[in-house]
Amino acid sequence: MIDKNSTTLLSIKNLHASINTTEILSGINLTVKSGEIHAIMGLNGSGKSTLAKVLAGHSAYEVTAGSIEFEGKDLLALPPEERARAGLFLGFQYPIEIPGVANTQFLRLAYNTIQAQRGKDELDPLEFDDFVREKMKLLDMKPDFLDRSVNEGFSGGEKKRNEILQMALLEPKLSILDETDSGLDIDALRIVANGVNQIACKDNAIILVTHYQRLLDYIVPDFVHVMQAGRIVMTGDKKLAIELETRGYDWINADQHLATGVNA
Ligand code: ADP
Ligand code: MG
Repeated sequence: MIDKNSTTLLSIKNLHASINTTEILSGINLTVKSGEIHAIMGLNGSGKSTLAKVLAGHSAYEVTAGSIEFEGKDLLALPPEERARAGLFLGFQYPIEIPGVANTQFLRLAYNTIQAQRGKDELDPLEFDDFVREKMKLLDMKPDFLDRSVNEGFSGGEKKRNEILQMALLEPKLSILDETDSGLDIDALRIVANGVNQIACKDNAIILVTHYQRLLDYIVPDFVHVMQAGRIVMTGDKKLAIELETRGYDWINADQHLATGVNA
């Protein structure tokens, strides 16, 4: 997947972020280029979801040092909705529910907002219905939840499917997907993997935040990063994920000095 013509989409330098004056991210460095799939792994509480939320522009987090550039522009200067319009997609560990708004309405609104931003045609409800059903077929999804309220009463797996569908519709340049802590059932896992593998191409990039190695049996990352106490303490390729599966995370503490300074 990695090619010489790829461009840098995301550049995070020495990122520090706090919530209620408690520092959670303590110097993250990460570069993501088009065509790449990155996995961010680490134990619970290491700061993975915080990183995703800071990228999304969540108001509870204060960036106290460092920088984030997206396609060379200062991402931190943009409000959340402009980050999305610029081509950033954030899937959440706990997606919100919107009672009374049908999923298809919500998806069409999101889609048309992005289309308008790109100077492309918006779709009316009938056109959108055809379009979304076609996408769902590609992703091997049943159209059963289009008419239900957004995420209301959805199982964890259904929320994930919905998230992948949003991603397929919006065609973001960079997607960050945060896996649920409880993990996904095998069906949902396949939907996520199938979706990611269908959507990934040389022009976009994907960051998978995952607690477990399992997802990486289906999606082969170019880079695997290990987070610990708000920092990336080790970077490797897919072999690192396999090593974590067999050895756990404890050995990294002992070897951490070896990794210092090589955080990609
Ligand atoms: P991960 O996704 O890797 O499990 P998180 O980013 O969710 O980790 O959490 C990182 C750390 O930040 C944890 O120690 C957690 O307790 C702390 N944290 C997260 N949210 C808050 C909050 N709202 N207030 C205080 N501490 C928080
Ligand atoms: Mg998390």
